[in-house]
Amino acid sequence: MSHTTPAPDPATAAPSPYLSHADDRVWELRYWNPDETTGSVLYRDPLAALHRLACLIRPRWDRIVGTRPFGDVIPATPPTEDLAATNSYFVAQPNSREGYWLVLRLLDRLPQSLRDLPVDETRVPDPGPEFALGNVGGDWICVCGNDPSTDGFETCAPDGREVSPYADGPWDGLHYLCARCGRILIQPSGRVIGRTETRG
Ligand SMILES: [Zn+2]
Repeated sequence: MSHTTPAPDPATAAPSPYLSHADDRVWELRYWNPDETTGSVLYRDPLAALHRLACLIRPRWDRIVGTRPFGDVIPATPPTEDLAATNSYFVAQPNSREGYWLVLRLLDRLPQSLRDLPVDETRVPDPGPEFALGNVGGDWICVCGNDPSTDGFETCAPDGREVSPYADGPWDGLHYLCARCGRILIQPSGRVIGRTETRG
């Protein structure tokens, strides 16, 4: 067995603000489901990629209606917010054969398989409320770029106080605090509902 550790891929390992743009970056969206094959699409704006993903999954909403991912029942109709819709949809079916990746790539380091794809230059002018991105590999990515492999998240109360993670303890199973910027997130939509003043 080898004990060597592969060098981190700078295209995906470097901390990067999830909602920022840079001209040398694109976001690869790959979505798949059991009924059809879907390839990768490259986007300049991650919110444009998520808008596309929300349009793909809203017609499939009946597959998750009434499920209870966190003691919270998925509503009968999808949220109008793209991030709330995509987060809720995929969090509600974590073991499904349906899923997606949204991965930051550097243009000059694109894999050969992506070299010839056009880049969608659509920009989302008004991103609206803030949402963390949920369930990419089962992890949250905060608006600030933090994820569980870097600074991570703490279980917290709705006001951001850190609380015990145990199900029978004071934690409600819904709220997380970003350990980097202090944003308070609520599952399953990933919506940012506040920010503590002691961080960030
Ligand atoms: Zn954060």
